[in-house]
Amino acid sequence: MAILGIDLGTTNSLIGAVDSGFPILLANAEGHRSIPSAIHFPESGDPIVGAAALRQRALSPERVVTSVKRLMGKRLSEVEQEHYPYPLVADDEGFVRIALGDGGSLSPEEVSALILKELKATAEAAMGTPMDQAVITVPAYFNDAQRQATKRAGALAGLTVDRIVNEPTAAALAFGLHKSKDHARIAVYDLGGGTFDISILEIREGVFQVLSTNGDTYLGGDDIDHAIAEHLWTTYQPNQSSLAEQDATLQIKFREEAEAAKKALSEATEHLVRMPFIKKDKHFEHALTRETVDRLARPIVDRTKALCLRALHDAKLDLDQLDEVLLVGGSTRMPLVRQFVTDLFQQEANTSQHPDETVAMGAVIQGGILSGSLRNLVLLDVTPLSLGIESFGGLMNVIIPRNTTIPAKAGEMFTNAMPDQSSMLVRVLQGEREMARDNWELGQVEVPFEAGPKGSARIGVQFQIDENGILEVLTRDTKTNKDTVLEIKHAAVDVDDKRVEAMISESVDHAFDDMSERVFTEAKLKSEELLPAVDQALALIGDQLDYGERHAILDATAAVKQAVASNDANQLKQANTTLDDATQQLAALLMQKALADANAGT
Ligand code: AMP
Repeated sequence: MAILGIDLGTTNSLIGAVDSGFPILLANAEGHRSIPSAIHFPESGDPIVGAAALRQRALSPERVVTSVKRLMGKRLSEVEQEHYPYPLVADDEGFVRIALGDGGSLSPEEVSALILKELKATAEAAMGTPMDQAVITVPAYFNDAQRQATKRAGALAGLTVDRIVNEPTAAALAFGLHKSKDHARIAVYDLGGGTFDISILEIREGVFQVLSTNGDTYLGGDDIDHAIAEHLWTTYQPNQSSLAEQDATLQIKFREEAEAAKKALSEATEHLVRMPFIKKDKHFEHALTRETVDRLARPIVDRTKALCLRALHDAKLDLDQLDEVLLVGGSTRMPLVRQFVTDLFQQEANTSQHPDETVAMGAVIQGGILSGSLRNLVLLDVTPLSLGIESFGGLMNVIIPRNTTIPAKAGEMFTNAMPDQSSMLVRVLQGEREMARDNWELGQVEVPFEAGPKGSARIGVQFQIDENGILEVLTRDTKTNKDTVLEIKHAAVDVDDKRVEAMISESVDHAFDDMSERVFTEAKLKSEELLPAVDQALALIGDQLDYGERHAILDATAAVKQAVASNDANQLKQANTTLDDATQQLAALLMQKALADANAGT
């Protein structure tokens, strides 16, 4: 059974399948292989998807939903509502819903499902057979909630989603299939309409591995359109307030003109913008040059530079170690972007693929591999951020480090910090900071176990990330073999994509302070173990010590208490060591007593 490959894009969406052994993209009845990711909800009748929906945007912007991908798995509080001409509301848990004119509302995945249904119908018409299995691509930075939401959208459209694939990985797959080299390292620079992704990949004997990823889910051709539209507006009405403050219909008109001009200027060096009847008898004509558009777009394109360099750094590669730089996404058709990438990576960017079809083609190829209709290539991805749990003292205990190849499985054993404790709270965290409170909580679960003395419980915590990047946490009381499974559901995730990028730079900015807090916390945990143990031992056999030894221990104990209060990590570490040294004789006596007691059978 053939498996469909789908690029469910922010701006445009595409579908394809392997037909007679060849991966192809499928055109709709109008002959278009790419449809705008736009849905029009008319006052009466069924929703309309694609180009026809987009045409309604100028007339009734509040009824045309675009860029719904940006809302997937998001809370209303995380969304900048002014970017959306249609009304948004929150569900009971605070997640975004799109309000419809009739008082009802739809979730972003329900809206995405309408696009997927349209694509599915296109594919079924083209292939002449029902099709219900698919591979869908998502941006590399989609978190668990967003991947889950994408899968749900597929299910709502009647599709079984066999695999979620990162967009740059899919693009590289399409690219790699045509390469014969045994070993290559490539950068995939993907600038689309709404998002930017950079990935560094390694291909070795048919195996793809993502070495690192970075990106910004709020950076793309739309931003360039905004900048050009503002420029056109101020040229037309120099004395008025900005375009963003005008009515929605006017904004859309100017943005559509801006996008058309931008596209034209990827070929020509000058383009005549003609806007008749902007308002009744008002017309506007303006000759826009590529130079002007480049000047407006440059600061937006420049923002990709730091992200690219960080991805290279994470992949531990220098610029000259890259064999190829692949351009993906419609915005890389701009000569400015091509030149920028060539300058940045110090090599000619590879433009051999259609930049706006590569991702979909990769999804089709992946579908072909899964269904067995194409030669087997293995696909590996990496975790964008570290995953772990909170351990004693509020520390982040990393279980799966950032940039680990997935699917991945790792575990650790934990115990109880308090006597007679009968459960443990496992907080699942994502992030790069040393202290749990600075990372993001993905979910939590209370794990029950048999109460006993301190350190007697044996709780195994295992993280498993499947090939779609979806995390499952299994905890096991090894005494009873009782398992608790926590699946990271969207309600448990409260993550803004933009903060993924911020998280990495914050962890660098705070590296020094974070590390000294970790050292102090670890030293304090040790003190908290040492102090009561020393007190107990002194009470038991302290009288067997001589005066000097006893005082050395009491002095060292006081120094530890003082160092705990001082918040100074080095002082506390030193005080712990001194107390350890001072209690050598006490420990030896304790051991002798234990042996004597054992021999006496007490
Ligand atoms: P994608 O998300 O890959 O479909 O890319 C869509 C973005 O590419 C939109 O912002 C388009 O305006 C932009 N785009 C498409 N074709 C061109 C072109 N010829 N020149 C410049 N930008 C383009």
